[in-house]
Amino acid sequence: MQFHVVTIFPRILDSYIKESIIGRAQKSQLMEIFTHNLRDYTTNKHGKVDDTPYGGGAGMVLQVQPIYDCVEKIKEQIGDKSKSHVILFSAKGKKYTQRTTERLIKYDNLILICGRYEGVDERVAEHVADEEISIGDYVLTGGELPAMVVIDSVTRLLPGVLGNEESAKYESYKNKNYKEHPQYSKPPEFRGWRVPEVLMIGNHKEIDKWREQN
Ligand code: SAM
Repeated sequence: MQFHVVTIFPRILDSYIKESIIGRAQKSQLMEIFTHNLRDYTTNKHGKVDDTPYGGGAGMVLQVQPIYDCVEKIKEQIGDKSKSHVILFSAKGKKYTQRTTERLIKYDNLILICGRYEGVDERVAEHVADEEISIGDYVLTGGELPAMVVIDSVTRLLPGVLGNEESAKYESYKNKNYKEHPQYSKPPEFRGWRVPEVLMIGNHKEIDKWREQN
């Protein structure tokens, strides 16, 4: 699977994507991440990718032209346009959930458009993106963290990425109302805080019952 991140800050994700499970998944070629600097696609001779909003108001808006050209170029590189899916990050988009990750995993290429400033020219949502996604009811400074959230949560569902395939099967949100039971590790007691006795006596029927209840 390939992730293409369209951003004006292409280095912002660097350290996160090199570490841990995401780093290993790339090394094992289970997925690839490409960042595309929006400024490389502007026709503005000063490298500008934003301008003031029509109708007035505060701040600047990312323009449609560089985003359109960048996405077209990525699709051209991918070859088969039907294999890509374009997401625009927006605080007013559809809420991201575990069900979304299960849907997105089916695409070969996800193109992730990160807004900045006051947002993105609406023609991107109307004509360039396939969907608009919000990662929660709050406003961030840009779409790069949402892009990372999508990359991280989708990648861990890809076959071979997690050491133990069972990990993803029995996790919180495996269905709508499911939340995982509490987990404990050694030592059995720390500062007087004890691990529940039932988890340490080796009776699996009782353990399953406790986990179900908790
Ligand atoms: N003026 C916009 C509004 O009121 O909805 C907020 C723009 S925000 C400062 C800049 C960019 O950050 C957005 O274009 C979007 O790409 C990203 N962003 C901010 N909050 C987000 C969220 N909750 N989910 C997804 N993307 C978000």
